[in-house]
Amino acid sequence: MSAKIIDGNALAQRVRAELKQRADHLGARGTQACLAVILVGEDPASHVYVRNKVRACEQAGLKSLKFQYPADVAPQTVLDQIDALNRDPAVHGILVQLPLPPQFDSTSVLEAISPAKDVDGFHAMNVGALVQGRRAFVACTPAGCMEMLKSAGVALKGAEAVVIGRSNIVGKPLALLLMHAGATVTICHSQTRDLAAHTRRADILIAAVGRARMVSADMVKPGAVVIDVGINRLPDGKLCGDVDFDAVAEVAGAISPVPGGVGPMTITMLLANTLESAERAAGMSHD
Ligand code: NAD
Repeated sequence: MSAKIIDGNALAQRVRAELKQRADHLGARGTQACLAVILVGEDPASHVYVRNKVRACEQAGLKSLKFQYPADVAPQTVLDQIDALNRDPAVHGILVQLPLPPQFDSTSVLEAISPAKDVDGFHAMNVGALVQGRRAFVACTPAGCMEMLKSAGVALKGAEAVVIGRSNIVGKPLALLLMHAGATVTICHSQTRDLAAHTRRADILIAAVGRARMVSADMVKPGAVVIDVGINRLPDGKLCGDVDFDAVAEVAGAISPVPGGVGPMTITMLLANTLESAERAAGMSHD
């Protein structure tokens, strides 16, 4: 293998140690940063994600509150809970774990969260601010990818960046962040005609699709930086990304693995956003 590994676990550990210091500092001033997590239904993956988020909060010195509801809960019950959390000055971040059961309109639930506590960065106000290049809570996975590129010393100004995937939570916000950082960005998606023709031009290639190993070595420019956001479960139960890691690592200059890449950085950015919200509430400037 010739590519340098962009190790999300190691970076997450370093960033979380810094966040813990900030959380302790804030605690000494009388504020404990607090994340409220709302979980509806029995989806096993959602339960694992929420458990990981709660544990990460504890380890970084943040408080977490968990509100759990059965799958058949009335949407108004959840909206009332969000309203109460919006008003509670001791709560700095609110997260609704997706997906929600079919009786919910997910967009209206996410829009019910106060933009000032929207630490997932999904509210239209925060997305709009991101589009305009203003300070906002940025969705955690794209923010984590940017930290990974920064930690690897990747030059973004003038670089050709190709993002595969145009979802609201990964592809679109990540493309905006890369553009604001000075890259020339192409967004590819399910209707893109010749995907490889685009990816082969990329100095920075991001895969956020959800199709196991769809990015093969012949789709990657020699020396490119490859960030793999995809999480796919193989028939043998193992996880893999959207990139054919072993083959692409022979061609790329740097590559992030799955697991141990973007995943740990996503949770880390959730902690960072919650802490930032708490610091703002405590009157500590972020400008
Ligand atoms: P999504 O299903 O909302 O979006 C997938 C995107 O891929 C779509 O925009 C679609 O147009 C595009 N696409 C589908 N088939 C394609 C093809 N053949 N060629 C090119 N583009 C194609 O998914 P998402 O929520 O953006 O997540 C993408 C992947 O990232 C999933 O595997 C998900 O599990 C993973 N993910 C990981 C993290 C993390 O923390 N590591 C966080 C969020 C999502």
